[in-house]
Amino acid sequence: MARRKIVAGNWKMNKTPSEAVALVNELKPLVANEEVDVVFCVPAIDIIPAMQAAEGSNICIGAENMYYEEKGAYTGEIAPAMLVDAGVKYVIIGHSERREYFAETDETVNAKVLKAFEHSLTPIICCGESLTQREQGITIDWIRQQIKIAFLNVTADQAKTAVVAYEPIWAIGTGKTATTQQAQEVCAAIRACIREIYDDATAEAIRIQYGGSVNAKTAPELFAQPDIDGGLVGGASLKAEFGDIVNYNK
Ligand code: PGA
Repeated sequence: MARRKIVAGNWKMNKTPSEAVALVNELKPLVANEEVDVVFCVPAIDIIPAMQAAEGSNICIGAENMYYEEKGAYTGEIAPAMLVDAGVKYVIIGHSERREYFAETDETVNAKVLKAFEHSLTPIICCGESLTQREQGITIDWIRQQIKIAFLNVTADQAKTAVVAYEPIWAIGTGKTATTQQAQEVCAAIRACIREIYDDATAEAIRIQYGGSVNAKTAPELFAQPDIDGGLVGGASLKAEFGDIVNYNK
């Protein structure tokens, strides 16, 4: 069975609650593609207003992060149950900006992934290499390590429902999209790694996105690759162009 594509926007630290409502209202008619899962991952404070604005549309509202504890003295953090109660289905875990600026590690990513599954949230698990790592020729080794640790103690049934986002750090927000070949090569390696950890059925079911300066021009070719099941989109998810990315197949 063909995997259903998933195109997710990652708003990052952009849009106030009222701006979020305006953007959802603007994009709603533009992203109405029933053949694709459409997710807007928004800042925590925007989740509820964005969800109200998206009601009745095909847009699913996701979170950009969450903590791996249930509740308690963790000032400033968002618990998984809070996301679930708000109606959230997807949560980005381990974005490279979280790893770089907020000290997230492969181990904290694994803890969050396990917690997300415990609460029936679908994690969008990010991985990606730096420019130095790519130049050193260690991209695949690095990604395999990130994947193996992220999926520690995750069951095959859980892994089947996960989304992995391959985002080369050098391509994020730089306007430098990886070439289609580079993106496909790494996404295929991620799928092969999942096959090694689990089995064929899990590798065939898991959805793998490419992220890093995806735009309306690059999306059709990227998303047509055999191992690329959609995209995680930053900058271009904040404008009308996101509609063209979601409708890459039209
Ligand atoms: P970008 O961001 O599309 O602006 O490069 C992608 C991401 O960081 O998820």
